[in-house]
Amino acid sequence: MRRETMCIQAGYQPKNGESRMIPIIQSTTFKYDTSEDMGKLFDLQAEGYFYTRLQNPTNDMVAAKIAALEGGTAAMLTSSGQAASFFSVFNIAGAGDHIVASATIYGGTFNLFNVTMKRMGIDFTFVDPECSDEELEAAFRPNTKAVFGETIANPALVVFDIERFADAAHAHGVPLIIDNTFATPINCRPFEWGADIVIHSTTKYMDGHDTAVGGCIVDSGKFDWRAHADKYPGLTTPDESYHGITYVDQFGLEGAYITKATAQLMRDFGAIQAPQNAFYLNLGLESLAVRMERHCSNAQKVAEYLQQSDAVEWVNYPGLPDNPYYERAKKYMPDGTCGVISFGVKGGRAAAETFMKHLKIGMIATHVADAHTCVLHPASSTHRQLTDEELSAGGVSPDLIRLSVGIEHVDDIIEDLEQALASVK
Ligand SMILES: *Cc1c(COP(=O)(O)O)cnc(C)c1O
Repeated sequence: MRRETMCIQAGYQPKNGESRMIPIIQSTTFKYDTSEDMGKLFDLQAEGYFYTRLQNPTNDMVAAKIAALEGGTAAMLTSSGQAASFFSVFNIAGAGDHIVASATIYGGTFNLFNVTMKRMGIDFTFVDPECSDEELEAAFRPNTKAVFGETIANPALVVFDIERFADAAHAHGVPLIIDNTFATPINCRPFEWGADIVIHSTTKYMDGHDTAVGGCIVDSGKFDWRAHADKYPGLTTPDESYHGITYVDQFGLEGAYITKATAQLMRDFGAIQAPQNAFYLNLGLESLAVRMERHCSNAQKVAEYLQQSDAVEWVNYPGLPDNPYYERAKKYMPDGTCGVISFGVKGGRAAAETFMKHLKIGMIATHVADAHTCVLHPASSTHRQLTDEELSAGGVSPDLIRLSVGIEHVDDIIEDLEQALASVK
């Protein structure tokens, strides 16, 4: 199946007389005839469901669709993208371990790593994604357990060199984890470039309609935990908290990582996605391929419009030929990158505020990556307590506007920008 077909067909094939849409199994628990039947499930000796905190059939159908789209062997849904990022690392790293991460990852992920997970005793080294080979090499330590990066960084729009970081990770015997939220598997499949684990904030393009917060983790099944058994005892030695199971022995390389994350992390942290939300996510996935095409073609035209406008100081979009990531984006995402653009309005912070006030279609929201065109001016909203100097030090210029181009008619979006820009002059 091609990706467009998988969006519709993968994950659930109804049998004779069954519902065409995935059923929402809105049940916390599942009934068994005998205690032995249930015991086998608890011992992970039989497949089935017993409690929705660990697994739910609706969630599994949707996770299977995302696994198919990414070309992975196993997947699980989580309650949010943040939970997916946390689990993806915590599943293979604990106190005393170390992770190499790109410095330009999403701010929420950066905080999770740099503040909260550091408090758990996991150390992080953040590297400039354009660093030299020597700098990258120097970031690794004997206790490094993974490398983490983002296909297209939110909001910096840095296109990550997946192949380069995968090679470096593998040379050190650790997996590469990629946050593929902005590109989606429609535009990029990180596993094809050497990544081992992919995570998503499904809240963005996958849901696509501002309806449900969610996340997903997908395993490629390719990383050989056994070959680096000393680094990953959690996968390669018996789990005493789970009936002495050794995940790689019982579930193979294709299933060990996700089964461990389900059995241990979902059990203990409980960040499960509600089956109702999984249903909404599935609806979003059905049109993902069609929507991504429109997001990208709209964003391309909007970026080109902004670039020629004399009210605009600069435009950052990887689809523009003068963008520093243009060539790399063509390699990893030949069909397009995403719908998010950032640009600066001439006149700085005050002009940007005026521009924002005059928008009629572009809605002011902290969200990105969904059907509605939305805009954010960090200097007058999320970052308003900072001075111009403090903003610039954090890589956010006072005039920066983040524009998430939706799937409305592109002429309406451009006309809206045009009249709002005219108000600034
Ligand atoms: C939004 C986002 C997250 C966090 O996801 P939530 O669903 O909001 O928890 C992680 N990574 C990226 C790239 C994001 O855009």
